[in-house]
Amino acid sequence: MPDGDGRRLRLAHLYADVMNVYGDRGNAIALRYRCEARGIGLDIDGVGIGAAFDPAAYDLLIIGGGEDREQRRIADDLAARGPAIRAAIEGGLPALAVCGGFQLFGERYVDSERGVLQGIGVFRLETRHPGEGAERAIGNVLLQTELGEVVGFENHGGRTWLADGQEPFGTVIAGRGNNGRDGSEGARAGNAIGTYLHGSLLPKNPAVADFLLGKALARRYGESATLEPLDDGLEEAARLAASAITRRGRGEGVGRRLRGLLRR
Ligand code: GLN
Repeated sequence: MPDGDGRRLRLAHLYADVMNVYGDRGNAIALRYRCEARGIGLDIDGVGIGAAFDPAAYDLLIIGGGEDREQRRIADDLAARGPAIRAAIEGGLPALAVCGGFQLFGERYVDSERGVLQGIGVFRLETRHPGEGAERAIGNVLLQTELGEVVGFENHGGRTWLADGQEPFGTVIAGRGNNGRDGSEGARAGNAIGTYLHGSLLPKNPAVADFLLGKALARRYGESATLEPLDDGLEEAARLAASAITRRGRGEGVGRRLRGLLRR
């Protein structure tokens, strides 16, 4: 393993035990792997409800997805930490918030029972769930982002609407994204990324993982601290396979809809 000059980074994994659907924990594992392959240590602290937590002491922050029930469990605790998290992100802290976590990093989430969960406002957006009977956005997703083409899997009932001027994470090539209407997916603010994409996201989108790690390293060790490239043959093969399946699925989806129309 290459010598990382004793460099170490600290990752806070918010509510790791509660917010972890569709393998979101894999994001922490991918970050650790990509650090260790470069000789950089990564300390991962799970931050549970009520635990002491100072975001300013960390180099990276992640939160995974969870259904409404889990979101209700963490919402008050997260809201209390909101100002400190927002300040850290405004100061450049790289962060990744997925699905249920992404929704609560917005301004508010109106859940499937019309309950209002206050978000922490890292992203200027609002999410509304149309109710339990409404169709969910489920399936493979392909995005165009500033970090290249990104693949993942979405499964959400909530529809997210970005405020004017709020930058999305990407634009939808295939899938539903934020609301199935405006072609936006996720959100970006500083070095924070919010997205609906599970998968896990980072193992098969190494450019996104390295964006977060590169920002973390530069913030801790100065702009000259760069990430050395890794052999991403396997990761890229996985990303390309997922991209091909998603593109094919999109074609089949259109075909199915057309056949359905013709039968009427
Ligand atoms: N409960 C949210 C929704 O259905 C988020 C789901 C998730 O995190 N997978 O919209």
